[in-house]
Amino acid sequence: MANVADTKLYDILGVPPGASDNELKKAYRKLAKEYHPDKNPNAGDKFKEISFAYEVLSNPEKRELYDRYGEQGLREGSGGGSGMDDIFSHIFGGGLFNFMGGQSRSRNGRRRGEDMMHPLKVSLEDLYNGKTTKLQLSKNVLCSACNGQGGKAGAVQKCNACRGRGVRIMIRQLAPGMVQQMQSVCSDCNGEGEVINEKDRCKKCEGKKVIKEVKILEVHVDKGMKHGQRITFSGEADQAPGVEPGDIVLLLQEKENEVFQRDGNDLHMTHKIGLVEALCGFQFTFKHLDGRQIVVKYPPGKVIEPGCVRVVRGEGMPQYRNPFEKGDLYIKFDVQFPENNWISPEKLSELEDLLPARPEFPNVIGDAEEVDLQEFDTTRGSGGGQRREAYNDSSDEESSHHGPGVQCAHQ
Ligand SMILES: [Zn+2]
Ligand SMILES: [Zn+2]
Repeated sequence: MANVADTKLYDILGVPPGASDNELKKAYRKLAKEYHPDKNPNAGDKFKEISFAYEVLSNPEKRELYDRYGEQGLREGSGGGSGMDDIFSHIFGGGLFNFMGGQSRSRNGRRRGEDMMHPLKVSLEDLYNGKTTKLQLSKNVLCSACNGQGGKAGAVQKCNACRGRGVRIMIRQLAPGMVQQMQSVCSDCNGEGEVINEKDRCKKCEGKKVIKEVKILEVHVDKGMKHGQRITFSGEADQAPGVEPGDIVLLLQEKENEVFQRDGNDLHMTHKIGLVEALCGFQFTFKHLDGRQIVVKYPPGKVIEPGCVRVVRGEGMPQYRNPFEKGDLYIKFDVQFPENNWISPEKLSELEDLLPARPEFPNVIGDAEEVDLQEFDTTRGSGGGQRREAYNDSSDEESSHHGPGVQCAHQ
């Protein structure tokens, strides 16, 4: 038995330390078959361990390092950390699947490519009426000339310089028992792990296995779809050899509308009316999201208070997948009052005769103080200190003008 620091990786493969390369390979193949996630989805960790053990032991440099210094020897120089994943990502760059690429290409099929997410801006009109639109995108597809092989059958060779790993690992001894491991992308294969002879290379894809293709997707935005809703095109994302393509996912982004605000299936709008309309009834029109001209009538005798909300049933957004059912439309009324002195005093008393009677003057008993009611801008805040500052800063002339009111307010 060889004298080794740690037998864990040998144990994982069920071989004795000092096993020949052939014995290792045989053991690995048997176990990898048994625990492959295709057959044994719950044994993912076990499979990772097997792969990791074989990866180390089949590499003479790493095997020597491991035999001499144990697992620690593999860790050192790679920045420390713990756990298999950490080791994988540090040593092999890109994790398990990059590593798998070299040895298990024939068993591919489970790995899934990434989804491609695109925002899709849509107007409220589009979401009300539904819309079919075409989306053009450029994506990778497997080269049809070489079936994604990159060249003639058998033309693809494992890169000798990096043994198919795409990275080269340099080991430097810093001191006895201390080594540093450095990895760099293999320059012979540009990190691909394989090389194809110039003459055998596929002419169409130049050995890249995939080519860019412009794809046009027909996108159906259905009535009633909402902001943030996803439209998925299964398997339409980039293709790559041995990879099940991910999805293209369109994420709906509802654009703001000038008139309507949406709240689920309901719509909200604000409408300005004058005092006479608020008191004497009104009629107005607006254009709905489908272009219809809508007439809103409110009969004389019914009063609209400033800021109140009235509802039109069934004029909201169509329901998604049930577009004949619609939400409601809420209209908030902004009542515009006339300007100061809009009417002569004589007319005002005529108007007063027409309006509901005012309450009687309350009796003023004993001493009472009369105060000014001033205009106030609510956006300026009501802090007393601020007002005093304004008073102090103003000129004499102004302060004598504003004086009484201000003093009044502070006493
Ligand atoms: Zn290489
Ligand atoms: Zn090709």
